[in-house]
Parts: sequence; structure tokens; C-alpha cells
Amino acid sequence: MRTITVAKGDGIGPEIMDATLKIIKASGAHVDFEEIEVGEKVYLAGNTSGISSESWNSIRKNKVFLKAPITTPQGGGYKSLNVTTRKMLGLYANVRPCKSYYPFVSTKHQEMDLVIIRENEEDLYAGIEHQQTDEVVQCLKLISRPGCEKIIRYAFEYARQYGRKKVTCFTKDNIMKQTDGLFHQVFDEIGLEYPEIEKEHWIIDIGAAKMADTPEVFDVIVTLNLYGDVLSDVAAQIAGSVGLAGSANIGEECSMFEAIHGSAPRRAGQNVANPSGLLQGAIMMLNHIGETAAAEKIQNAWLKTIEDGIHTYDIYKEGKSRQKVGTAEFADAIIERLGQKPQQLREVRFENKPIHLKPYARKESQPKELMGVDVFIHWKGLDPNEIGEKLSKMTGTNLQLSMISNRGIKVWPEGMKETFCTDHWRCRFKAKNGNQVQPKEVLDVMMKTMDAGLDVIKTENLYNFNGKAAYSLGQGQ
Ligand code: NAD
Repeated sequence: MRTITVAKGDGIGPEIMDATLKIIKASGAHVDFEEIEVGEKVYLAGNTSGISSESWNSIRKNKVFLKAPITTPQGGGYKSLNVTTRKMLGLYANVRPCKSYYPFVSTKHQEMDLVIIRENEEDLYAGIEHQQTDEVVQCLKLISRPGCEKIIRYAFEYARQYGRKKVTCFTKDNIMKQTDGLFHQVFDEIGLEYPEIEKEHWIIDIGAAKMADTPEVFDVIVTLNLYGDVLSDVAAQIAGSVGLAGSANIGEECSMFEAIHGSAPRRAGQNVANPSGLLQGAIMMLNHIGETAAAEKIQNAWLKTIEDGIHTYDIYKEGKSRQKVGTAEFADAIIERLGQKPQQLREVRFENKPIHLKPYARKESQPKELMGVDVFIHWKGLDPNEIGEKLSKMTGTNLQLSMISNRGIKVWPEGMKETFCTDHWRCRFKAKNGNQVQPKEVLDVMMKTMDAGLDVIKTENLYNFNGKAAYSLGQGQ
């Protein structure tokens, strides 16, 4: 008997969790449940992470967590429990299958059957944000090579294990050449190890449009955290309903399973919500822990229920559906059909195919040279020539001002007067002779900038790796 930690969450959470647990119990799965409290009540009791240390202990002991959606209270100071759980437990892969069930669930996309594999730990979701000037705030987008390697390898392994033919990578590397560029580069590198799988890369904007228009051309999509978050809601909705899709969050040791939708507070307590998203998460969970027979039995009974036209309000269509039911009645209809198979929709056969990645091997360090520094300043002036003139006159240093940019756009030397400027300026200093500089010279430039009466808010070192500049140029430079 395997113990699963469960949290009933907020809003529609308790109703869809009760329905899901009832179905799991009726299926004969060899599991029992240990309930913990997370979410709104815990937040409002003063715990800003929404989860107590005893609850953490339960998850870490049982290693498998089935979680209903929770409500993060509005207002500052509350940390997203979902993001915290994924990151604290190292749940690096978020797997979101999105499939249409035509003709039983209305959709414009009859043949859609794709899986979005979303990086789950880094990107803008590191949540490292700062206000730097009166006018400018920043959020750091951190992308790591181990992070890219793990998720991309996972996507290819998933495709191999589940007989999927193609893996598509979505990035915006035409703009973010370092961060998205690394993701794309790692995709190309690791793809070579999977010659039997077709590979392609799309720029995310047109890729997303293509996915919304003709999702049937995609199979497995691997992408960064933020893009994956947005795309998977779109994919689930166009497949039929956000209420239908589940998600697995997979780590080396622990895993968490959930619906992709939120706590839908407006629908709470009315016995109307569709429990299918959480149930799909639970089916992935059962398969993941080796309860394959139960997973298969529930999935086939669920398909039969959908096929029999027994639908919750979100997928109910006059003329197509047979009966509009509430959450609890929908669960009972599935339980009645345990052991039955769908007649028109394809019956599923699961195999327990655990994915184990080879551990990340740290690469040899590349030669790294310090080539200069970007000194960021908070300055209320309007004409960049003023700071340009001040800073280019610096003496007693081997470094010289080479560029000033505002929000990434070069404004000095030879900026355009039409460019709108905020109070956040990046002043780039490099060695006069173009050679390497010493770390102390960076500090010296920072001090001299302050001595010139300017408000230094941060610096970023400029490095060459392997002899190549590993920093972006100013736009227009
Ligand atoms: P939501 O997904 O909760 O609901 C949006 C709408 O989708 C609902 O009004 C409803 O019409 C429909 N819907 C969603 N799930 C449904 C279901 N199972 N059955 C039928 N209809 C369903 O999104 P929201 O309103 O933006 O967010 C509400 C709260 O949920 C917020 O506090 C948010 O932070 C939280 N949230 C939690 C999670 C999570 O815990 N994993 C994820 C997303 C949002």
C-alpha cells in the first residue's frame, strides 16, 4: 500500500478532490491517503508560504503529492505555494497532455493530441525582482545549462518511452540570444542523441499561433517555464476545456500531480465543477507509482462516461450531451463504468515507464575573460549626452565609456532624439585597448562614477567565454 499526501485546496478544490479520491478508492488502487492543509487558510493564519513544516514533512516522507488548486490571497507578501513546492522539491518537469475528445466534447481541433513539457524551476519564475529607480523595476530571467539539459532530455525520453514521433522546441532566441539561445542550443545538442525522433524549433510567437490554429501538427512540445505556463492553458482550452487537463510535476525523488486550472472561486460549493483535470492528474500519478492497472481502468471508465454524454456544465452541449451532471454525480457515473471500455474513443493502455535521466555531468570550465562592466545608474536627466560627457572624461583608469543605453536601446554616442528614455541608464565601460580588465578596475570605475555625482544602482560584468562575447550588444549598436 502506497501512501499519498493529498491537499484539498480552496474554491472548487475540496469538491473535485472528494470526487477524485472516491474514484481512486473504487478502482481498487493500492493506495491510501494522508491529508494536509495548504493554501488560503494557512496563508491567512499568517504563514506567507501557505504550507506548514508538518505538511512539508508529510510530502517529503511520502514523496507523492496530489494537490487540488489553491487560492493565493491578493495583496503583497504571499508566496505562490505552487512555485515554492515545485522548486523546493526539485520538480523540474511539468508534463501537460492536451487531447481533444471529438465528437463528444466540442472542439475546433478534432485530431489534437499533444503534450507540453514545461521547464518548471527557473526562468522568470525564480521570482527575483527589484525596484531600481523611480521608474524601473526588474525581474531576472535565469536559465541554467543543467536546467535546460534536464528538461530537454526529459522531453526526448518521454517521446521515446511513449512512442511519440516529434519533439518541438519553442523559444524566443531571435531576441534573447543568451537565455533562450542556450535552451535552443541544448535542444540541438541533446536532440542528436535521439536520431529516431523528429526535431524542430519554432519561435514562440508564430509557434503559439500555429499551435492554436493547427495543434494536430504538434506532438511533444518542450519549452521554458513562462511560455509553457501560457501555452498549456491555451492548449487545454482549445482541446475542449481547461477543466479537462491534468499536470504532472516530476523530480528525481518527489512528484506532485494536479489539475492545470485554478480554484475557480465563483464555482465553489455548488457541486458544478468538472473534476476531470484533477482526475487526469491522479491517473498520471497512479501510472507513475506503478498502479498501472488502476490508472488504465479509471481512464477507460472516464472515456466511456464522456462518450455516454454524461457531462459537467463546462463541456455540456445541448443536442450532443445526454445528461448535465454535478461534480459528485459525474464521479459516480465514472465509478459505475469502472471495468468498461470506450467504444468510439480510443481505449488506453498504460505501461509503467519510469523515466530516469542520467545525472547531469558538469562541463569543463571554459576560458573566461573579464572585458568590462555595465554600470547602471538612476538619473533623472533627459539628455544622455550629459552623462556621456561626464563619464567619458574619467581619468586614472584603463577603462573608457563605450556606450550608454536606456531600456536596452543605445542612446549614446549618436542616439536618436526620438528615443524615449526612463531614469534607468546602462553605461558600458571597456578597456581602452580592447584587452581584458582586472576585477579591481571594475570597482574603480564604479567608485569614479559615484564620484561624478551619479547614483550607481548595480553593475554587471562583461565576460568573454571561449574568446566570444557573452553579453548582449545595445540595440542599435
Ligand atoms: P481558474 O482556472 O480558477 O478559473 C477560471 C475559469 O475557468 C472559472 O471561472 C471557470 O469558469 C473555469 N474553470 C476552471 N476550472 C474549472 C473546472 N474544474 N470545472 C469547470 N470550470 C472550470 O482561474 P482564475 O479564476 O484565474 O484563478 C482563481 C484562483 O486560482 C486564483 O487565486 C489563482 O491564484 C488560483 N490558481 C491556482 C492554481 C493552482 O493551485 N495550481 C493554478 C491557477 C490559478
